[in-house]
Amino acid sequence: MEFDKLDAILAGQPAYRIGQAKEAVLKLLIDDWEQAQWLPGNLRQKLAQDFLLGIKAEIMSAPTGDSLKALVTFADGLSVETVLMRHHNDRNTVCVSSQVGCPMDCLFCATGKMGFKRNLTASEIIEQVLLFARILKKESRSVTNIVFMGMGEPFLNYENVMAAISIMNDPKGMNIGGRHISISTSGIIEGIERLIDEPVQINLAISLHAPNDVLRSKLMPVNNKYPLSALLTAALRYVKNTNRRVMFEYIMIDGVNDSNDCARELAELIRSRLSLKLAFINLIRYNPTGEFNPSPPARVKVFKTILMRAGVEATERYRFGQEIDAACGQLAVKAKS
Ligand code: SF4
Repeated sequence: MEFDKLDAILAGQPAYRIGQAKEAVLKLLIDDWEQAQWLPGNLRQKLAQDFLLGIKAEIMSAPTGDSLKALVTFADGLSVETVLMRHHNDRNTVCVSSQVGCPMDCLFCATGKMGFKRNLTASEIIEQVLLFARILKKESRSVTNIVFMGMGEPFLNYENVMAAISIMNDPKGMNIGGRHISISTSGIIEGIERLIDEPVQINLAISLHAPNDVLRSKLMPVNNKYPLSALLTAALRYVKNTNRRVMFEYIMIDGVNDSNDCARELAELIRSRLSLKLAFINLIRYNPTGEFNPSPPARVKVFKTILMRAGVEATERYRFGQEIDAACGQLAVKAKS
């Protein structure tokens, strides 16, 4: 599926035909051009030949049924993982990948170990959403939220990510509002600054995972280039310019970043650099990838209590689909091996 080629494929057709074709794919979620009977037959044939609607994917379901994970394979044979998380309140979130592999090399991450292969195109990002949108349609449900928290660093593929977001956001297409779309970055400051100027207001999440530069640089090499002080200054600029809070993600790794001292240091970092009203922390249970283990639930609770007592809002999110290896990058690594 190559949305940027649709105009060329339909060259010579009235402009409204392009709109109809896009609507058929993105809103009505057809998976066969013959379902678009309002388009002339010769056009359907041309589109069936030149704009393929098939998405090659292997889908796995968690035993609990609350999440589906897919390994989506593209024309060049490379794959990414994408996850659908079903929530109880009819919210359905798709976690998309933005790159095949990732160059950021975070120590705890299976995707980082794969190395970087290439950026995804906007259409390849959209395909991941369409895959689950088509499944949900059969249950009379729809994709309500998108998070860029799969494989890759979204801000290193900025143009394609923003092009995909504009397709997601289009009222004539998927019609997913900016408030329902979140980008998670490992801390690329240029990306945060560019996001401030975007007309569409989307949510920003920053992966922190450590309360000081020494530990963060060990876990996330990106910290050597963009240390905490510069990162939090950029986050503060984002908050002030957009009037939106920023979410900090903090993966809880046993014996690495989950001590009481780390909690106190984290609270102080947020309090001193950002103000308590402007940020909140999401504590994420780590899906083990071999080298590290998740913090025990009791440790996470104590950590959270220290943050809350210091006035820092903290939520505890358990990663969906641990049963189907939903940790970042794990599935693709397995498929490769
Ligand atoms: S945690 Fe995210 S940024 Fe870091 S290596 Fe993994 S995919 Fe890349």
